[in-house]
Amino acid sequence: MNDKKFSSSSYFQTIQDKKIIGSKCVDCGAVHLPPREICATCLSENMEEVSFSGKGELAAYSVIYVPPTAMIEAGFGRDNPNVAGIVKLVEGPMISAQIVGLDTKNPAEIKIGTPLKATFVERGDRVFLAFEA
Ligand SMILES: [Zn+2]
Repeated sequence: MNDKKFSSSSYFQTIQDKKIIGSKCVDCGAVHLPPREICATCLSENMEEVSFSGKGELAAYSVIYVPPTAMIEAGFGRDNPNVAGIVKLVEGPMISAQIVGLDTKNPAEIKIGTPLKATFVERGDRVFLAFEA
């Protein structure tokens, strides 16, 4: 069991609850998502919970034609590519996630800086954080 307040398992659990919870350094104000026990900026352990708005913009992306098994099982592949992206959140951190709602038939039209908002995708019995254009 991992009973740390902020960990990959605490993050996974909040995503199952369809909430985006990170950690904020009380000493320097840096915010982290996924949440961290120790501030990446000042190494303080004085962290508090912070809720993210889920708003951000597309910072980088890749259109995936040969996805991993779990995504093939979800119906993605050569004829239905999915987009893996890096999202710059309005609160500052960047996070990788699936991006939905983009025109994967015309990947050259996908623009860096496209406004995105968080959504939750259910695959099997798990919930994943994704972003939609
Ligand atoms: Zn800090």
